[in-house]
Amino acid sequence: MSSLFIQGTWVTASGGATRDVINPYDRSVARTVDEGDQADARAAVLAARAAFDDADWRTWTARGRGDLLRRVAELLQRDREDIARLETLDTGKTLVESRVDVDDVTGVFRYYASRAEADPGRLVDAGTPAVRSRVVHEPVGVCALITPWNYPLLQASWKVAPALAAGNTLVIKPSEITPLTTIAMVRLIEEAGVPAGVVNLVLGPGATVGAALVDDPRVDLVSFTGGLDTGRQIMRSAAEHVTTVALELGGKNPNIVFADADLETAIDYALIAAFLHAGQVCSAGTRLIVADEVHDDFVAGLAERAEAIRLGSGFDPDAECGPLVSAEHRAKVESYVELGLREGARLVAGGKRPDEPGLRDGYFYRPTVFDDCRSDMRVVQEETFGPIVTVERFTEEAAAIELGNDTDYGLAGAVWTSDPGRAERVARSLRHGTVWINDFGPYLPQAEWGGFKRSGIGRELGHEGLAEYQQAKHIYENTEPAPQRWFAG
Ligand code: NAD
Repeated sequence: MSSLFIQGTWVTASGGATRDVINPYDRSVARTVDEGDQADARAAVLAARAAFDDADWRTWTARGRGDLLRRVAELLQRDREDIARLETLDTGKTLVESRVDVDDVTGVFRYYASRAEADPGRLVDAGTPAVRSRVVHEPVGVCALITPWNYPLLQASWKVAPALAAGNTLVIKPSEITPLTTIAMVRLIEEAGVPAGVVNLVLGPGATVGAALVDDPRVDLVSFTGGLDTGRQIMRSAAEHVTTVALELGGKNPNIVFADADLETAIDYALIAAFLHAGQVCSAGTRLIVADEVHDDFVAGLAERAEAIRLGSGFDPDAECGPLVSAEHRAKVESYVELGLREGARLVAGGKRPDEPGLRDGYFYRPTVFDDCRSDMRVVQEETFGPIVTVERFTEEAAAIELGNDTDYGLAGAVWTSDPGRAERVARSLRHGTVWINDFGPYLPQAEWGGFKRSGIGRELGHEGLAEYQQAKHIYENTEPAPQRWFAG
């Protein structure tokens, strides 16, 4: 087994503990992995610290690091099917989605391979020919990377690829619920030739292993993706050692539909936005804001199609949506449905577990649509992270914008309209890190991703996604040093 990777060696947990990783489709044991503790976290940080302070890795050029990332990309494609199957086994998402994830992740490694090479720093005009002034970008140091369970491979790659491109060393800790593809990815990075200690992997609970990484003064940067409450806790702990933090937190993402939109397309995308991966997506379009004139037709079409979504095993080619990740998470989703009903929302689709006997062992929940929702309802404001979409209505453009911004979060949103001027006005007015016009969901490795407001601090992907793992250093050279006689005495 040996599923921890520390100082270039696969090892078992120091305390000898293990964890069964559960397949959410039928509750069977998918794999058993090692379960680390604080001692393993400390050993991994020690290895990463030594590798960073050691001259060898620091002498790797950007080209060398870029080549390493390109080899990882090739290996991901070589093992594409195996890794996709592992992701489906672990998370329950459909195989089609998992294959897309592997391809996207490959793109992220390729993108950062070339970004690493394209950053010579910059010359600064000091105002005198006797000075050569330049700003160079250096790695931050030891990075602790902590990731969630919904997109395990994807979230890990958004951190690992830029961290290595910038020349850092790292310890990654995936979610204890879904560690399998992160283990597979680290094996490929090892095969690609990363030096011992540069990449380390620890597994285990957030409260012990995650917290030990955040509390360690030898860590220079914590990059975390996960829930808001955990993010707050991490910020508090990191303050002790003034450790840099980057946070990618939750979202409650508005999907605004104007009456002049192509309704059939808007309904189709609204389903993808809300129910892809059973709504367990930080940028899920769980908050529909629909123009009064088209509201009734829109909701009728949405509810009818939501009711028709086929649930099943991620490996079943006919299944359109898999289960939720765990019993605990389904219980949370169910409590939000009960809350929505108590708050006066009108259930127009779903609102229950599926009836099919074949799905009884899995953590399935029917795609759920709530109409007649108001902005002050908790089911509208809080991240349910499940297959629940709420519908509010509006008459004026200003009211749609106000509703779209009436949230503590600010991760993503969309606007549907055939009026380009309105599309631009609304897109610029929404206080969210990504806004789609007549689309929902795509991201690009070249474009920054991240949250306004309580959706986080910092950006992943794009230029800023690399900058997060770098620090600027100003090198000022006096090319004609001569005595100044400032102190004449
Ligand atoms: P979570 O906060 O419970 O856990 C995330 C990770 O943090 C896990 O690895 C966990 O073990 C670890 N952790 C937990 N407590 C910790 C602590 N005290 N110290 C250090 N680490 C700790 O989140 P989750 O339930 O795994 O993931 C779902 C959340 O992730 C949702 O809120 C979702 O919106 C968010 N998310 C955000 C993005 C984004 O790009 N903004 C992407 C994916 C998921």
